[in-house]
Amino acid sequence: MTNIGGGNKRASKSMNMLWVTLAAAVAWTAAAQAAVCPRKGTLGTSGILSVDAASTPRVGLKNFPQTLPLADHEVVLTFDDGPWPPTTPRVLAALAHECAKATFFLIGKPASEHPELVRRIAAEGHTIGHHTWLHRSLLQIKPSETTEEIDHGISAVEMALHGVATTTPSTPFFRFPGFETTPATLDFLQSRGIVVFGADLWASDWNPMTPKQELKLLTDRLAAVGKGIILLHDPKGHTAAMLPAFLHYLRDNGYHLVHLVPAKPGVGSDRGPEPLNRVRKSDN
Ligand SMILES: [Zn+2]
Repeated sequence: MTNIGGGNKRASKSMNMLWVTLAAAVAWTAAAQAAVCPRKGTLGTSGILSVDAASTPRVGLKNFPQTLPLADHEVVLTFDDGPWPPTTPRVLAALAHECAKATFFLIGKPASEHPELVRRIAAEGHTIGHHTWLHRSLLQIKPSETTEEIDHGISAVEMALHGVATTTPSTPFFRFPGFETTPATLDFLQSRGIVVFGADLWASDWNPMTPKQELKLLTDRLAAVGKGIILLHDPKGHTAAMLPAFLHYLRDNGYHLVHLVPAKPGVGSDRGPEPLNRVRKSDN
């Protein structure tokens, strides 16, 4: 009896080990698969646009007369107001699942509080722009405080990314909180070679709504204009919940995702009439 009992115990133990091994193998396979991009059947990215302030100091038709030279059915994904630990990882997971790349405009204070999340966004291949230190309205504060609000935000993100508190952004992309610009603040950023991003369309995800309502609003607006720089907010739970379905919508409706990167310093100065350096590639 003792032997049999011991045998059963051993059998049960080895069965448990088998399950642990199998579970680990499945988890590893899923992680490995998610890490391999481009991947067939995913949205992927169809091209890279390098953007610089010399040729395009301001982009986004909601805010400025000009935008990026996107073709019909080309979209750029941008996320504002992170990093935010409860939701940013969900957004990153949805993007990774579709081999999709986005630009994140980060707020300095949460970036300084969650530097590991800032580094994770960069490590997963996304572009990181800037969105001030505290997200205050720059129309409501003194001009001297405006510079501090912008620069403190940049240096906090750079510190999180590279361990250097510099006010020279490694990616010179900036978005104003609430798009509240003045001629002076626009000139200030242009003088420093920083591209100011508006947007071509948005999901109005600052309003309370269900993921389903947000998906309908966003896809209706995108269908109406056919392309553009899309503004979303990764700290919004309904946006994080909506994103997988939106990425599938893009994939299934013939949209192509364009990934933005900063131009190399000086590249814009000796360029011809083409305003942006477009590098075409085919991911999938
Ligand atoms: Zn914002």
